[in-house]
Amino acid sequence: MHYHCTRDSQQTVSAAQAIAQGISENGGLFVPESFPQYTHADLEVMAGCTYQERAVKILGDFLTDFSKEEIEDCVAQAYAPEKFSGGNPAPLSLVQNGAVHMYLLELWHGPTCAFKDMALQLLPHLLTRSVSKTGSGKTSVILVATSGDTGKAALEGFKDVAGTRILTFYPENGVSPMQKRQMCTQEGGNVGVCAIEGNFDDAQTGVKRIFTDPAMRDRLASHNMAFSSANSINWGRLLPQIVYYFSAYCDLIRTGEIDYAGEQVNVVVPTGNFGNILAAYYARKMGLPVKRLICASNSNNVLTDFLRTGVYDRNRPFYTTMSPSMDILVSSNLERLLYDMTGCDDAKVSGWMRELSETGRYQVDGDLLEKLRALFYAGYCGEEDTLRTIRELYRTENYLCDPHTAVAVDVYRQYVEETGDSATPSIVASTASPYKFADSVLRAVSDGPAAGESEFDKVAELSALTGTQIPAPIAALQDKAVRFEDSCAPQEMDRAVLRLLGIG
Ligand SMILES: *Cc1c(COP(=O)(O)O)cnc(C)c1O
Repeated sequence: MHYHCTRDSQQTVSAAQAIAQGISENGGLFVPESFPQYTHADLEVMAGCTYQERAVKILGDFLTDFSKEEIEDCVAQAYAPEKFSGGNPAPLSLVQNGAVHMYLLELWHGPTCAFKDMALQLLPHLLTRSVSKTGSGKTSVILVATSGDTGKAALEGFKDVAGTRILTFYPENGVSPMQKRQMCTQEGGNVGVCAIEGNFDDAQTGVKRIFTDPAMRDRLASHNMAFSSANSINWGRLLPQIVYYFSAYCDLIRTGEIDYAGEQVNVVVPTGNFGNILAAYYARKMGLPVKRLICASNSNNVLTDFLRTGVYDRNRPFYTTMSPSMDILVSSNLERLLYDMTGCDDAKVSGWMRELSETGRYQVDGDLLEKLRALFYAGYCGEEDTLRTIRELYRTENYLCDPHTAVAVDVYRQYVEETGDSATPSIVASTASPYKFADSVLRAVSDGPAAGESEFDKVAELSALTGTQIPAPIAALQDKAVRFEDSCAPQEMDRAVLRLLGIG
């Protein structure tokens, strides 16, 4: 199978090239030329398989330049049961919310307690093999700008992976205390972490500048190194996310929760960069019986407006919310959706993306809007409603969810209210452990933490109050030594990179 570029369909690369390169040189994203199709009979067969077997099947159909043994090896390492609390990488939990019931797909049982692990435990294995297939033989230097979960998941995934170095930049005052601690105590001989005296956009802009700086590229090349990306624009991050939607459906078949392979379900996703919900869209395209894709946003509701009106407009206030991983105004992966839904119209997509970067705004045609509205339901949930949802779910169902998941739960409630569709079984992506956001969750389910409590006090209080267990990776952080305390101005990031690599 080949991959094309969303801004130039003539560009063709192999899967290994798409993953090794991350993004096309013209700024476009790589997409598969076709999608394998699974029949209802295939779904029945997959229902009898383990998560790992389902992953091998789906990955193998996309990564045709990898051998079956290579894929089995990658999957066995990424989804080893001991890496996920409870052993299952993506368990489903049936939860009632008032009159409606939903299946929460818990994607946060991995080493960093957020769904980013599902892709970032696998990506390093795919990337190192892709780099050796494309024959550069260079050490991959992964640069990450993070507003929270991606940085830690990437550090943990790439830690001590031969042939890689991983450097993460985070905004000094733009991540939660727990997220900061997770990153600054990171172990591993090939990792580096540095705070930026600025916001996430400064970090992101700095990383992009370093990526495209010829002097930096030459400097790395002279040490047999080359930059690579672990952001969700990389196909190697999207593909593993398709697996868990199939897996969730198969689990519903196996447990008899749905009556027959082919019965339709809804999928609800709390959305930021549009990666996770795009994976659900691709799963549907491959034959997963999905009725509606429900796109949930927080107060940064640029996607809600787009999916309702066809106008994408990032010229609006930016809100810092209690669901920080969704605080984003430019959802990169939307480009892949537009490419697919226009029948691979690279000229149209390029035009919209140019308008977006020049004016911050574009508008799609009426017929595309109609198609979007038929498939997607879009809604958003503000801060007060997020707290209320966490509280209600806990008080009435004794289920504790994090603020990102709460946004999805509330938008699903809005969907049922507006459409009356309470009968279609619905899978809601649950994307982070509540313990990553102990302060907000405590405020929702109690009077809130006392003044001056440390992050670990809050975690302990949450556990004592709710009788839920503190995830082992979070409990372990308390005794870990802080290894990284440096910060730098955004314009000094290139020097920080060279210093962290030991070639400065
Ligand atoms: C990254 C993230 C999201 C948003 O996912 P996208 O793929 O960017 O849409 C939602 N919730 C959590 C906890 C995340 O870390």
